[in-house]
Amino acid sequence: MSAPPVYRRILLKLSGEALMGEADYGIDPKVIGRLAEEIIEVRRDGVEIGVVIGGGNIFRGEGLAAAGMDRVTGDHMGMLATVINALAMADAIEKRGGYARVMSAIPIHDVAEDFIRRRAIRHIEKGRIALFAAGTGNPFFTTDSAAALRAIEIGADILFKATKVDGVYSADPAKHANAERFETLTYDQVIERKLAVMDTAAIALCRDHHMPLRIYDMTVPGNLGRIVRGEPIGTLVRD
Ligand code: UDP
Repeated sequence: MSAPPVYRRILLKLSGEALMGEADYGIDPKVIGRLAEEIIEVRRDGVEIGVVIGGGNIFRGEGLAAAGMDRVTGDHMGMLATVINALAMADAIEKRGGYARVMSAIPIHDVAEDFIRRRAIRHIEKGRIALFAAGTGNPFFTTDSAAALRAIEIGADILFKATKVDGVYSADPAKHANAERFETLTYDQVIERKLAVMDTAAIALCRDHHMPLRIYDMTVPGNLGRIVRGEPIGTLVRD
């Protein structure tokens, strides 16, 4: 039998890119299905789960602005992209027997509930997987900041950031053979060394509210279950 979970409540941040698998746009049904299964399994082990999903597999405001679009409009499109991803994830979870609720930071009533903190907590206490969409609801932010914010708001024990690399490195491991992988870092080390973990606003929010953050490789099946059971996979950022 595997070890029991060491966390009571978690916030999982999935980037939009995590959903597209090997493609360069959109959602790969196989990848989202596998991630949904891992989330359901952790839920069955008794862990309460909130999820923030990015939108980078569809639109990013910054990219749209670089191509000539108004930045705020681009950010609105990016936030709506996260709603699309959250709907896809809710569907994937419910098709596999889990219970999911999409809560949006931008009111979009025919499609998702509004994000209301107390309701979100109620959903997760009842065993539903709460999918927090539309980021923070404000332009010029990222879904990493939304993840830090929601983790703090719902009283998560830890924020897990799912990525395609096995932790945080001193330099890009694809370009530098001697890049060092960190097992633990402090928030200030991340900020001072400008390490590519999350944007500074998100890290500062975690730091100010003592929210531990683990960056792990979601491309390895079963890793979510492993980190929930306390295995030291990836990189831990903490006080
Ligand atoms: N976004 C925003 N405010 C937020 C969160 C997201 O304006 O609070 C927009 C922004 O344009 C961003 C896009 O939504 O580029 C998609 O989010 P993000 O880039 O964080 O997605 P990820 O990289 O995680 O896939």
